Amino acid sequence: MSNFRNNWEIEEVLDLFDKPFNELLYDAHEVHIENHKKDMVQVCTLLSIKTGGCPEDCGYCSQSIHSEDPIEATPLMSLDEVRKQAKLAKEQGSTRFCMGAAWRRPSNKNIDRVIKMIDIVHDLGMESCVTLGMLSEDQALRLSKSGLNYYNHNLDTSREHYTKVISTRNYQDRLNTLKYVRKSGIKVCSGGILGLGESRDDRAKLLIELANLEQHPESVPINMLVPMEGTRHYSNEKIEELEFIRTIAISRIMMPKTYVRLSAGRESMTESTQALCFYAGANSVFYGEELLTAPNVSVEKDRELFSKLGMKIEGDNNPEKKPSLTKKVQKKIHNLKLIS
Ligand code: SF4
Repeated sequence: MSNFRNNWEIEEVLDLFDKPFNELLYDAHEVHIENHKKDMVQVCTLLSIKTGGCPEDCGYCSQSIHSEDPIEATPLMSLDEVRKQAKLAKEQGSTRFCMGAAWRRPSNKNIDRVIKMIDIVHDLGMESCVTLGMLSEDQALRLSKSGLNYYNHNLDTSREHYTKVISTRNYQDRLNTLKYVRKSGIKVCSGGILGLGESRDDRAKLLIELANLEQHPESVPINMLVPMEGTRHYSNEKIEELEFIRTIAISRIMMPKTYVRLSAGRESMTESTQALCFYAGANSVFYGEELLTAPNVSVEKDRELFSKLGMKIEGDNNPEKKPSLTKKVQKKIHNLKLIS
């Protein structure tokens, strides 16, 4: 069950969704412990280095200029500020620092600046990840040469449901960027959002798109939609937590070696739901007190939960209580709600 496969068919994935819940979780847990260290969780911090003013029309995102109440656009963050935030993330125990910019695609000048930011993250001894929108093949190569570890580019939902969520780009655009990233040697981070009005078939098809790539993404963030006022998906029906947990379990079974990340929406989940997600194979979380436009679980609460569950943070050699961010710093840290 833990062998690499990239020939998943819709019927077998739907069969997984139909399995009795406990049986599915048990199977996913078996795959998980065969392929990952038990009870370990990776923590990553997200920083928005350029917020708002995005010309894309993702129907869930308040950074889009098409949303009814778009958040104010900011210029690209200074290198000093990035250094300050990255140091804080490191102090909090993060081992990966992700930086996101609300661009459709970065200019070459933007890439020059981002490369300097990547250097700062590496100098602090953390892994780097960026999410900057669509890339050309050359830009992917330049980022790869800078030593960038991961590039995030989410598929969001199934190919069929995509046009109901975004109209300013198409699915193939997304897949092209993923192809350039993979070809350049950068590791791939790509996942989706549940609660976009998609059907179970769409969820299965999203996982098939990810698992049937030539190589599985090294990270797959699974977001639960956080409804943002003024966006088209604000009034969507909330996805059931059991269905969310099922999707985590099936991601684990289909992509055994991948880090499956609990991303946006964790703040509204109970400890028990999160515990079931970890049992089902989630082994990575976004860490930080505040998300871009919504609150996230506090570092203290996360540490308390990890301790209750007997889980350890990957790469954390100093597991005593880490300092909390000050209110002022919280305001300045724009941890992305959903990375693009
Ligand atoms: S999700 Fe990303 S690409 Fe889409 S509107 Fe928001 S910032 Fe832009």
